[in-house]
Amino acid sequence: MTTTTTSIVVIGGSYAGIGVSHGLLQQLPNIKVTLINPSTDLSYNIASPRFLTKPDLIPEERYIFSIPDAFKKYSTDSFQFVHGKAKEINLENKLVSVEGSTEDIKYDYLVIASGSTTPASIGKESFPAPFKAPIDGDVRDAIKKTHSAIGVSKSIIIGGAGPVGVEFAGELVEVFGGDAKKEITLISGTEKPLASLMNSAQDAAAQILRDKGVTLKTSAQIEKAEYDDTAKQWTVTLAGGETLKADLYISAMGTIPNNNFIPSSLLDKEGWVGVDKHLRALNDKGDAESNVYALGDISSHKDRLLLRVPPQIATVVANLKHDITGDGGLRVYLPEEEWMAMLVPIGRSTGTGVIGNWRVWGFLVSFMKGRDFLIGKAPSLVQG
Ligand SMILES: Cc1cc2nc3c(=O)[nH]c(=O)nc-3n(C[C@H](O)[C@H](O)[C@H](O)COP(=O)(O)OP(=O)(O)OC[C@H]3O[C@@H](n4cnc5c(N)ncnc54)[C@H](O)[C@@H]3O)c2cc1C
Repeated sequence: MTTTTTSIVVIGGSYAGIGVSHGLLQQLPNIKVTLINPSTDLSYNIASPRFLTKPDLIPEERYIFSIPDAFKKYSTDSFQFVHGKAKEINLENKLVSVEGSTEDIKYDYLVIASGSTTPASIGKESFPAPFKAPIDGDVRDAIKKTHSAIGVSKSIIIGGAGPVGVEFAGELVEVFGGDAKKEITLISGTEKPLASLMNSAQDAAAQILRDKGVTLKTSAQIEKAEYDDTAKQWTVTLAGGETLKADLYISAMGTIPNNNFIPSSLLDKEGWVGVDKHLRALNDKGDAESNVYALGDISSHKDRLLLRVPPQIATVVANLKHDITGDGGLRVYLPEEEWMAMLVPIGRSTGTGVIGNWRVWGFLVSFMKGRDFLIGKAPSLVQG
């Protein structure tokens, strides 16, 4: 008796794509998973506010992991890693093309997990600081360049006082604050930092940052940021015309979908992939594509958090298993049923955050996340 092998192509080799690939390989026989990613490495970006500011504190091998190595335990018949960027998806013929390759990859099922990037990660109106691994270029190189730029700068402006901006300012001031070795300014578009958290957490963040020596500029909308190569200086222009100057400007704002290879019929108005409750991609008629799933940051679910990825992985794996073998029912992902937790370390010993309706005290934020940015959990995210 012959058995047929089902081809599943996964685009994007970060937390979502890696997790789905392991889940499928562990639960389904007779499949071939092809994982496509522009880099052979995954960098544990959750800890980037720390590893970008404190080069000597965390050895590289604790936050950069080889993706192919994490899949060595599977046979080459069942897993293939493609080092490259997906260029185009042909939904009709079920093909994915990869930049630089003449051979298209045929799929029976497709998983889109191409995530998102940030202005700083791609150097858009910002020094290129890899809060997300750059899609073009080497993450190690980008990290080293950020270390050097921070090292030589006497004044640093961070644009955006969401969790990333607050964490980054907290790390910087811990190393370079004190005797005002570097002037660190955090610009908040709202009256207080961490506008998405409860009021008491916002107040706590503002207080801690100011106590540590960060200049917090609030209710200030950034209009543009430009680098003058001759003066070696950044000028940040605020709404109303005020300008601020610094040796280094790093944007901690914005989330940009990695979608330039995704058919426009699958993209919503903001460029994310709309999904139904089973995480199947929705087309422009509002119908679910029966063989295309999307999860993680690239999906239209608004909470773009690593915290949301594991339940989405479980949903996609269960539903693909159902599609391929008929086993089990179709699983549902309901974001409103997920609990909210946001911990924002401000340096190693304090911070703020919320879990459900509770504000978390600084020492608990430090204990739960600030000590090491949960770096000990990173290997399990890669190795499955
Ligand atoms: C600085 C920072 C700190 C954060 N801290 C937290 C935190 O503490 N807690 C939390 O819950 N969340 C946090 N997040 C959010 C978290 O990083 C994201 O939710 C998570 O990375 C989403 O994972 P993903 O796999 O969906 O996508 P991503 O991590 O964005 O990965 C997408 C992958 O797809 C690849 N890709 C892109 N285009 C292509 C293509 N054309 N072909 C093939 N591959 C492609 C990318 O290179 C990348 O490897 C943080 C985000 C940032 C920026």
